[in-house]
Amino acid sequence: MNVEDLPPLREALEAHGLWAKKAFGQHFLLDLNITRKIARLAEVGPDDHVIEVGPGPGGLTRALLETGARVTAVEKDERFRPLLDEVVAVSDRLSVIFDDALKVDEARLAESSPAHVVSNLPYNVGTPLLIKWLTGPWTPKSLTLMFQREVADRITEGPGEEAYGRLAVIVQATCAARRVMDVPARAFSPPPKVESAVVRLEPLSERPSSQRLDALQKITAAAFGQRRKMLRSSLKVLGGDALIEAAGIDPQARAEVVPVAGFLALADAWLAAR
Ligand code: SAM
Repeated sequence: MNVEDLPPLREALEAHGLWAKKAFGQHFLLDLNITRKIARLAEVGPDDHVIEVGPGPGGLTRALLETGARVTAVEKDERFRPLLDEVVAVSDRLSVIFDDALKVDEARLAESSPAHVVSNLPYNVGTPLLIKWLTGPWTPKSLTLMFQREVADRITEGPGEEAYGRLAVIVQATCAARRVMDVPARAFSPPPKVESAVVRLEPLSERPSSQRLDALQKITAAAFGQRRKMLRSSLKVLGGDALIEAAGIDPQARAEVVPVAGFLALADAWLAAR
């Protein structure tokens, strides 16, 4: 039997007496046309290793396996073990680890080789997981991730746009980020209260050092903590006018219009002044 021959997802859920649990942020994609589209957007194939967070009933997992990729899936909800064992039984390219994705060591899962991350993320832990992948010790080859649409905007928008803020700066300092697919609430079972979108992230070849990223986190927390204030006022405790001048930024500017390069210059000026 192949992955393509497995019973439909709805049938598999019913056969195992499984239902979506709110506490685990479970909203399943049971339409293989949608999961296949996400797998295509992830641009993975036979030579790739994918880490998938939260396989749940395995719709996205099946689509990823169909590309020929090797998949290591991390699932927190043990109830899915028997159902996912059935997928493992038909594909020796799948391994499933039952653990909390916030705690796993991806370098170990990836066996020290490059790996892609693809996930229909649990909404309650999506942002902390993203920060872990972008600022932690392990760097993914690419990330193709489902978020609620408002978070997708906070990741991809630029200076002057409504959702531009701390998250956009941290993400765009480390990655090229694009919103590649909108997914309506009705595509999920059960439908969430919000619309969703898939974001594709490609880490930049020159990622800022962890010291620079720490400084960037500090600067953006202060600047966007008071986003309507001028930088000279919101950054007062971190160096005020002298810092802003050293970074070559207009001290009257507000955080919401400063580009990512400006925040990196502020982080560098802050590090240089210490
Ligand atoms: N991939 C499946 C799909 O597309 O139908 C399920 C997606 S559902 C939105 C999120 C999945 O992440 C659930 O299976 C949930 O149990 C799992 N999950 C939630 N928190 C997790 C965590 N901290 N670590 C690993 N998996 C988690």
